[in-house]
Amino acid sequence: MPALLRRVRRLAAARSRCAGSKAWHFPTLAVHGGEALDPSSKASTPPLVLSTTFAVSEPLSFSANELRASDPWVYTRWANPTVRQLETKLAALEGAPSGEHCVAFGSGMAASVATMLSLLSAGDHVVVSDAQYPGVAEVCRHTLRRFGIAADFVDASEPRNVGAALRKGATKLVWIETPCNPILRLTDIAAVAALAHGAGAELAVDSTFATPCATRPLELGADFCVHSLSKYLCGHGDSIGGAVVGRSAERIGAIRAEGGMHHGGVLAPFNAYLIARGMATLPLRMRAHSENATAVARWLEAHPGVERTNFPFLESHPQHELARRQMAMASGMVSFVLKGGKAAAEQAARRMMEELELVHYAVSLGHQRSLIYLLTTEDLAERPGSSYELVGEQLATYRRWAGDGIFRMSVGLEDSRDVIQDLRRILGPSGLDH
Ligand SMILES: *Cc1c(COP(=O)(O)O)cnc(C)c1O
Repeated sequence: MPALLRRVRRLAAARSRCAGSKAWHFPTLAVHGGEALDPSSKASTPPLVLSTTFAVSEPLSFSANELRASDPWVYTRWANPTVRQLETKLAALEGAPSGEHCVAFGSGMAASVATMLSLLSAGDHVVVSDAQYPGVAEVCRHTLRRFGIAADFVDASEPRNVGAALRKGATKLVWIETPCNPILRLTDIAAVAALAHGAGAELAVDSTFATPCATRPLELGADFCVHSLSKYLCGHGDSIGGAVVGRSAERIGAIRAEGGMHHGGVLAPFNAYLIARGMATLPLRMRAHSENATAVARWLEAHPGVERTNFPFLESHPQHELARRQMAMASGMVSFVLKGGKAAAEQAARRMMEELELVHYAVSLGHQRSLIYLLTTEDLAERPGSSYELVGEQLATYRRWAGDGIFRMSVGLEDSRDVIQDLRRILGPSGLDH
């Protein structure tokens, strides 16, 4: 390797390491991780680099297979300074050593699919949680199967279900989500990691609902931690993005080369800039989301019209003990089932669309604004062709958490009293109102 190229690589590697001297505490990493003063301007706020191409001073290979994360900037689909800054910040928050352990994508779905299609081949087998983000469930059910990759869906809240589905030699990946959409059931990451590794498989954890403020999956033994950046990490509902962080820079390099550079679903620099700006306040926001959601969950739990409230930090959550062990805080996600079945739920949903003044009846989560949405069990889990297509015992288990339909609520950063007042408008008073 020519001396100049070596020197450029050393400089680039040093830049990607300014992740944050590992000694910094979490809120400091959220603010400063991945950032460094721009040498030419000394700007305190890092510049947004929109350039798609970069002048190079040495011949470089044009093959994705030859490229390393520490190479000089060449082309923004390969790597971009603003995107790398976000990757380095997220790696630092997830406890990974450098920006080379993280690769960002244009959405959470792009990150998930890039991870699967970069790591799996025809003939492989995956074990997947039976309740999770519907898009990922559908990819496992349809896309992976078309490419000859078999998927088994299990209730991953019982590690032994994962263990029973593992096929030694064939299972390459276990994919879980905790807390999982929309029922907020948890999976014991350390227990499932041990089982997966025992069978020669890797473990990927979608940690979108938890965020690194609550849980750091890599530290619990996961090999990959996947995020939709569109949710809490951005935090303001104005950018779509995704990322995967890994224990091994080589494995992440493989996802970057194939899933990023070849499949091409990379994150735009402008979105990376907005998301990284949101990440600076993640620790403050998550504390407020958790406090507000706790107040809303307690109000719902005491409500005579509410059949069931799912919130990991309520003592009534069946995995409350695991929540305390695995999650440092709750996040803003609460889900609940109304008494009266599907008709009552659909009627309440219609009233929410028309009468809520503050909470938006809308999909997505993790924004500063509170959001609520009804997911009926028929539509999400039961109907042939639904995202989960559950039958038998698995459907019965899902129904215990979600009844005929579950309201998924993302409690925002408003004053929780105002959020509760808006819910009271639809649901009437709770036992806590006097
Ligand atoms: C939103 C979400 C996704 C998909 O992310 P997008 O950014 O919308 O593509 C994946 N997993 C979970 C848990 C999500 O909430």
